[in-house]
Amino acid sequence: MNTNLTRTICIKLDASAHDAVLTATMQTCNAAASWIARVCWDEAITNTNTAHHRVYGATRERFGLAAQLAINARAKAVEAVKSVKAKKRETCPQFGARGSVRYDARCFSFTPLDHVSLLTVAGRVTCRMLLGPRQHAMLTDPAWASGGADLVWRHHRYYLHVTQSRQAPDVTATPDVIGVDLGIVNVAVDSDGQVFTGEQVRKVRAHYKTQREGLQKVGTKSAKRKAKRLSGREARFQSDVNHCISKALVAKATSARKALALEDLTGIRDRITVRRVHRYERHSWAFYQLRTYIQYKADNAGVRVTLVNPAYTSVTCPECGHCAKANRRSQAEFLCQACGYTANADFVGARNIQTVAVNQPMVAGAGTPCPQ
Ligand SMILES: [Zn+2]
Repeated sequence: MNTNLTRTICIKLDASAHDAVLTATMQTCNAAASWIARVCWDEAITNTNTAHHRVYGATRERFGLAAQLAINARAKAVEAVKSVKAKKRETCPQFGARGSVRYDARCFSFTPLDHVSLLTVAGRVTCRMLLGPRQHAMLTDPAWASGGADLVWRHHRYYLHVTQSRQAPDVTATPDVIGVDLGIVNVAVDSDGQVFTGEQVRKVRAHYKTQREGLQKVGTKSAKRKAKRLSGREARFQSDVNHCISKALVAKATSARKALALEDLTGIRDRITVRRVHRYERHSWAFYQLRTYIQYKADNAGVRVTLVNPAYTSVTCPECGHCAKANRRSQAEFLCQACGYTANADFVGARNIQTVAVNQPMVAGAGTPCPQ
């Protein structure tokens, strides 16, 4: 099944020459969107066409907006009204003066030498895009088509968030699978025995935790601000780690022409022991993010991802199939009570995930009835 893949490139703009114009555009477009939202809210309009006929002329007159900017303001307003109504909330959506401004192909275009032309309240202006090598490669990659963009004001700077899309490549049908176990001691271990260590992650987390606790004790406004900055930095670090790991796993699967198998964590609370629930919950967002990154990169590369039932993957012996809680000596150590096979518990998990993915669902009692 081919799905459509999308991605967003965040590009810093050198807007120094057009600061006033962009600011005015942002303020006007948001004021217009707020006004449109108010009209649609009061008159219970959620249909795009009805909204267009009702507000288009008035938007252009009241706010002096160019046709395409008026249309995009209406699109933004109607979407917000719809989403608020869908959530059954009772307040009409309004937009801050610094809210993002939507651009589509008719009101922005890339021009030579890394410039972008944007429609504003004062006609078109051209800004230089400050592209790093990676962003440049993404923007010029012929496999991806650039669609719309958002003009965003963040940290006192203008950014352009460009959305790109492409067709997902066909997924390679392959019988071979790499099992991947996600853990804490090791962030990820695959069934080939490759370990993506969590050592660095733990150190950095501990460092941030100490700093955060110190700031909490201080409790002043500036300490709170600093704590917020820290949490942003920690999140970016975690995201970098997850990008690296997912990239390495997908690259490996691509070159070996194998699928990837992960534990299926839907409904995990019903199925696993407290200890493992705890293990996942503590770092759930990081796990969720890593899994999302793996899936996303695999989709892009045409690598299949299978999800397997995680039951027994941590307590079954990959050598003889003996399944017993006692096999799992600790969070890190596995020792088979039947055949004496011993290995790192995460590696055992990865091997079992691989086995389950390749064969049938693992049945309790291959050997003895499983205590779980
Ligand atoms: Zn065994």
